[in-house]
Amino acid sequence: MDLKSNEPFWMVKNGLINTYPSLDEDKTCEVLVVGGGITGSLIAHQLIKEGYSTILIDQREIANGSSSATTSMLQYEIDTPLYQLIEMIGKKGAEMCYHACSDSINILSDLTKEIKSKAGFKKKKSLYFASFKKDVDGLKKECIAREDAGFAVQWLEKEEIEEKYKIPTSYGGILSDQGASVDAFRLVHELLAFNMKRGLQVYDKTKMTSAKLSKGKNKITLDSGATINADKIVYCVGYESTNMIKEKFVDLLSTYAIISEVNEDLTNAYKDVLIWNTSDPYLYMRTTDDHRMLIGGEDEEFSNPRKRDEMLHKKATKLTQAFHKNFPDFKFKEDFAWAGTFGATKDGLPYIGVHKDFKNAYFVLGFGGNGITFSVTGMQMVADWLHQKKNPLSKYFAFGR
Ligand SMILES: Cc1cc2nc3c(=O)[nH]c(=O)nc-3n(C[C@H](O)[C@H](O)[C@H](O)COP(=O)(O)OP(=O)(O)OC[C@H]3O[C@@H](n4cnc5c(N)ncnc54)[C@H](O)[C@@H]3O)c2cc1C
Repeated sequence: MDLKSNEPFWMVKNGLINTYPSLDEDKTCEVLVVGGGITGSLIAHQLIKEGYSTILIDQREIANGSSSATTSMLQYEIDTPLYQLIEMIGKKGAEMCYHACSDSINILSDLTKEIKSKAGFKKKKSLYFASFKKDVDGLKKECIAREDAGFAVQWLEKEEIEEKYKIPTSYGGILSDQGASVDAFRLVHELLAFNMKRGLQVYDKTKMTSAKLSKGKNKITLDSGATINADKIVYCVGYESTNMIKEKFVDLLSTYAIISEVNEDLTNAYKDVLIWNTSDPYLYMRTTDDHRMLIGGEDEEFSNPRKRDEMLHKKATKLTQAFHKNFPDFKFKEDFAWAGTFGATKDGLPYIGVHKDFKNAYFVLGFGGNGITFSVTGMQMVADWLHQKKNPLSKYFAFGR
């Protein structure tokens, strides 16, 4: 699957951080992680911490899937508003999912300190503003639901947003204390480097072509013909899971991102806040630690990569125009633009769990706008399952739910 256009900013900025060998000899391990993006690297980190002998493979180069294209806003706010998620799955479950995302941000904060990361992890506030008057009632309802669930939120009137954030187009919005951003591409390589010193084996350009269960063990065949014998497999294969799983469980879309030239005036004004709005599709933005503004949005409801990439120039222009409309006090000069495939689920929740067609295996598929925070949640879930413990989130993230 073609997951992204050329030139996602993170690959250009970071270059080749590390190289890894491919695998052409037979191996044995307790757990095989398939997929070397942000999800696989987080899961591998947890597995090494828990003492499992672990191998991670990726068919591409490491972090060259969706994790190279991500805008990496880390939000506790799921694509489905809390009050709507309550209607869909009940108050207890909905609040638990929101709190899990919030906890993930704190877990990632500790983790980046633990590995002495230089991936620019930064805690930020999050401003979710109404682009239309008709959205105000829904947002106010959402603010109350979040307050009720114990989140630190504040309703800001139109005038307050205009004064504080220089956004004249809003009709009011929710300011949340919890949020963060990071360079996920760099973080993947840092996590792998940290854990390779602790025994993790990493192979890229190594594709899993089949997995069969024999005498209670998974026998995984690779494109090189070599095999890996593993007690368990954790599939962290992102949107390419749609090629493995028969039933339809996610809608694949196309999404677009642009990043500005270095602009200190602009980024100093917004360095402490993630911003997104209620336009459909929504517009979202955040600053980077190298003083650029990163903007995403303009989603299209198809995933054909050729069609997606053909629209890149037009979409980049529209994102720039949207920025100027919402932030008339600031200049924005595009430096890079890219497109990526994106997955949306019916409830905004991920698929993390077992699948009936894959024995002795778990999937960790963080979909939607919270893909990365969900992947962090998956770390504890996988650890619990390997210890034969139940995890209360399992039923909300299950296949066939
Ligand atoms: C433009 C854009 C903006 C986004 N913005 C945000 C955001 O702001 N916040 C957020 O949380 N999320 C965001 N996301 C989503 C986020 O990027 C994804 O959730 C995340 O990157 C998924 O990581 P992953 O490791 O699961 O998948 P990937 O990074 O795609 O990694 C999966 C890996 O599995 C490998 N693989 C697949 N099949 C095999 C096989 N058979 N054998 C070996 N290897 C295999 C692939 O090569 C790939 O490298 C965004 C995505 C895009 C495209």
